[in-house]
Amino acid sequence: MNQRQTLVVIGGGAAGFFAAINGARLNPMLEVVLLEKTTKLLSKVRVSGGGRCNVTHACFDAAELVKFYPRGGKELRGAFSRFAVTHTMAWFEARGIELHTEADGRMFPITNDSETIARCLLDEAGRWNIRIQTQTEVVEILPHENSFQLQLHDGKTLHANAVIVTAGGHAKKSGYDFLKNTGHVVIDPVPSLFTFNLPKNPITELMGVSVPKAEVKIRSTKLHSSGPLLVTHWGLSGPAVLKASAWGARDLANLQYDFQAQISWIPDLDVEDVFAYFLALREQHPTKTIGNSVSFGLPSRLWIFLVRKSGLQETERWADLSHTRMRKWAEVIAADVYDVRGKTTFKEEFVTAGGIALPEIDFKTMQSKRCKNLFFAGEILDIDGVTGGFNFQAAWTTAWIAACSVSGLGTDSDLV
Ligand SMILES: Cc1cc2nc3c(=O)[nH]c(=O)nc-3n(C[C@H](O)[C@H](O)[C@H](O)COP(=O)(O)OP(=O)(O)OC[C@H]3O[C@@H](n4cnc5c(N)ncnc54)[C@H](O)[C@@H]3O)c2cc1C
Repeated sequence: MNQRQTLVVIGGGAAGFFAAINGARLNPMLEVVLLEKTTKLLSKVRVSGGGRCNVTHACFDAAELVKFYPRGGKELRGAFSRFAVTHTMAWFEARGIELHTEADGRMFPITNDSETIARCLLDEAGRWNIRIQTQTEVVEILPHENSFQLQLHDGKTLHANAVIVTAGGHAKKSGYDFLKNTGHVVIDPVPSLFTFNLPKNPITELMGVSVPKAEVKIRSTKLHSSGPLLVTHWGLSGPAVLKASAWGARDLANLQYDFQAQISWIPDLDVEDVFAYFLALREQHPTKTIGNSVSFGLPSRLWIFLVRKSGLQETERWADLSHTRMRKWAEVIAADVYDVRGKTTFKEEFVTAGGIALPEIDFKTMQSKRCKNLFFAGEILDIDGVTGGFNFQAAWTTAWIAACSVSGLGTDSDLV
């Protein structure tokens, strides 16, 4: 870009700051303005990861990384080959922030404080003289031949040679109305990453009980996921449920969050395997009570709950159980069914599925195919990841590519 060109970045979140900082840094002749409609900057960064900011995930193979995105994985494949987890780490390390990895692959600043990330982005924005305006909402974008006129909420206008839209996800489609004049297709937004409500279900009395691996299947759909499962005071949560809610965000919205979830408490065994195991136990320990035979590594409270759910009593002895009753119990362990009625927002991390339709974006540049010099990055796009740092990684990657494109320098990762 030529001297004194203006780049306006719309939205003061992770993607907006990353795009603005890198745009200004890679092309110091660019005048960069960042507009944020609220009074707060980087508010999601601050609350993210329970106040620790799960910056990214220790997954270093682009082909593997894309598998964590229910929407956008295919489009991100090439983008991740240019800027992914190692680049994110290098970018923050170059600014004095080391990341550490937890056993499940999530990466946090070693301070375990999201303020470290927010501070770094604010300092960098200051260093590169980015002009930040809070309480400034863009209500309309008017594309002209080689520039844009941005209509602000207070009636003022702003001129821009290039615009990067990083306005995040919106619960309602009307949240995308400010883009109407640019002619983009918006995929209906629905929430992703939520937990399942089981109102008045007796299992909620086990709140706090968890299993390291369960399988969740959503009946009447093809959805299934596995991983740790947690019983809460309102229903079911944990990675297995969150994954199902992410991959099924649209299907479950269509079902109006009213469906049946089938839980396999020991996913490696089917009903017949569990039944065969019960037969062997009855043979070996006929006089032992079933309540004292906790198996498969299940928590004893859950074991007793499942015994009772099958119509048995924990005081009954193996020798007294018929095949029919044992089979029913095996079915409860291997294919336990719950009526889900509603969802609850997962406080650690939630995102919007839907947003700007991906076929309208050139992922080599993050430029709109409809509107020259208009770029998109972050959650405003129809991209979302499962929980674990993937949503921020998509924000860093798309913002990086948009910034490199605007600066006219290509996407050379040496520029980190
Ligand atoms: C509680 C919570 C915890 C999370 N934790 C994690 C985590 O640990 N790891 C992870 O990977 N992801 C996490 N996420 C998801 C992650 O925070 C988001 O995916 C990410 O912040 C998206 O960044 P963004 O810049 O695209 O959008 P946002 O962070 O949403 O920023 C968009 C900004 O644009 C502003 N804006 C919107 N419209 C306009 C307009 N018209 N004019 C001007 N400004 C506008 C908004 O006010 C907002 O400040 C979490 C989400 C939540 C809600």
